[in-house]
Amino acid sequence: MAIEVIDDLATWRRALDASRSAGLSVGLVPTMGALHGGHMSLIRRAAAECDVAALTDYVNPLQFGPSEDLGAYPKNLLRDRELAAEAGAQLMLAPSPEQVWPDGEPSTSVRVSGLTDRLEGEARPGHFDGVTTIVCKLLSLSGPCRAYFGEKDYQQLAVVSRMVSDLSLPVQVVGCPTVREVDGLALSSRNAYLSPDERAVASRLYHSLLAGKRLIEEDAVTDPACVEAAIAEHLGAERRFSVDYAAVVDPADFKRPERIGSGEVRLLAAARLGKARLIDNMAATPAAAQQ
Ligand code: AMP
Repeated sequence: MAIEVIDDLATWRRALDASRSAGLSVGLVPTMGALHGGHMSLIRRAAAECDVAALTDYVNPLQFGPSEDLGAYPKNLLRDRELAAEAGAQLMLAPSPEQVWPDGEPSTSVRVSGLTDRLEGEARPGHFDGVTTIVCKLLSLSGPCRAYFGEKDYQQLAVVSRMVSDLSLPVQVVGCPTVREVDGLALSSRNAYLSPDERAVASRLYHSLLAGKRLIEEDAVTDPACVEAAIAEHLGAERRFSVDYAAVVDPADFKRPERIGSGEVRLLAAARLGKARLIDNMAATPAAAQQ
């Protein structure tokens, strides 16, 4: 199906308003471009569940710290357009920063507290404020819709869901499972930074989380610190990885539970490998909570 690429915010708003006026439901997939199979799974889901699948393709400078990879972030609009169309998108918003913020850097910031205190929020100061500010703007521009986000960025999914709920935005947030390479590495635009040697060991991040999950589900380990240490040790055993964090959290508040036992927990880890900073996560359900 043909895809229409729009770079102007007013035209985007009109296009989606017109779809809804014609009685069509809208599925929105916010992305930073450099599309891969993970993004395509979100677009496919939006296309399957909604009449119009629309994606935004915008590298958001606000969510990058001063020493991060904004300048190096991969970009390929022509390829994105092809992949998005192949996955079933009909509309794509690809504006410049000047089109997004015609008055220059915004004076407004949207901030979700609490959920952003730890993990990515701690490792990347200001990151989530940048995310919620742009996502709030994109949701406000796009109007009532279902919005698809990946579990790959699990904390982001929780933070955006909380923002939508707190601000009563007319949006239903849909979390979608992480798409992985055959060896378990989560697809990510940043995997492009890995050298062949680094790529060969990158799936250790996934396998270290799996090792933590086994401790909880099969060995009935209930001490979160013990599981965190095991994940970090497994990951750090490959010396090219520099571990940022390995954490066990209650998915409701992203705090470490005192004890693992009564319900599902989330295991999250972040590590540097060469020029890439990789993140991943998975659920673990203690045996006692599985019945
Ligand atoms: P990004 O372009 O990295 O900002 O990601 C845009 C959306 O795609 C976010 O909701 C991500 O969580 C989601 N996403 C990124 N990688 C994956 C993946 N491997 N599987 C599923 N969703 C993903």
